[in-house]
Amino acid sequence: MIHPEHQRRAYLQAMGIDVWLPKDSAEPDSLDSVTADSVAAENLDWGELKQCVAECSRCELANSRTQTVFGVGNQDADWMIIGEAPGADEDRQGEPFVGRAGKMLDEMLRAIGQSRDKVFIANILKCRPPNNRDPKPAEAAACRDYLERQIALVQPKIILAVGKIAAQNLLGSDDPVGRMRESRHELNGIPLVVTYHPAYLLRSPSQKRKSWSDLCLASRLSTEGSA
Ligand code: URA
Repeated sequence: MIHPEHQRRAYLQAMGIDVWLPKDSAEPDSLDSVTADSVAAENLDWGELKQCVAECSRCELANSRTQTVFGVGNQDADWMIIGEAPGADEDRQGEPFVGRAGKMLDEMLRAIGQSRDKVFIANILKCRPPNNRDPKPAEAAACRDYLERQIALVQPKIILAVGKIAAQNLLGSDDPVGRMRESRHELNGIPLVVTYHPAYLLRSPSQKRKSWSDLCLASRLSTEGSA
């Protein structure tokens, strides 16, 4: 979590307001690798949010990335797809899911009558973890309000979490994908379905059938409530 005092100071700083501290005032508890350059994202518009992400140095991934990977697609999408983090291809091109897993994701979307430009695609992390290691909890926490703001701006009818890292982070769960899929979850009042990561489906094509059934569930939930 970003320390609230750090967040307050960063916000005041961003507003051009000097923060005066008593000489002996202690710094808040250590934030691991997370730095205090965070401005709360909750009221930003698309342009401000994009710029804030592009300039982000909330965690140490800012030192190793080529560029941030904000997200791509339709800002009024019914479907929001959330993956884990950029890989090498995404880091180079600045767009999520452009590598082999991305091609697989495109196929999954095509199967349900969707496409990359109809949906909105984002990741838990906006920066590539070195050597594609798993995101650290502090990194996911530092990045969280960017994603929350993207969700609030898009207001999708359905969120599809692809893979364990996305699902566990979004739902605050330790469960494996096998236990989370096939159910209707909810995030901020929006239905959420978990399925396998496209990279896993490339390695285990026999699981595609299960993924198809998850996509059908998500499709049904996305139209629930509309006449
Ligand atoms: N895997 C992900 O989870 N996200 C990407 O953007 C690329 C690969």
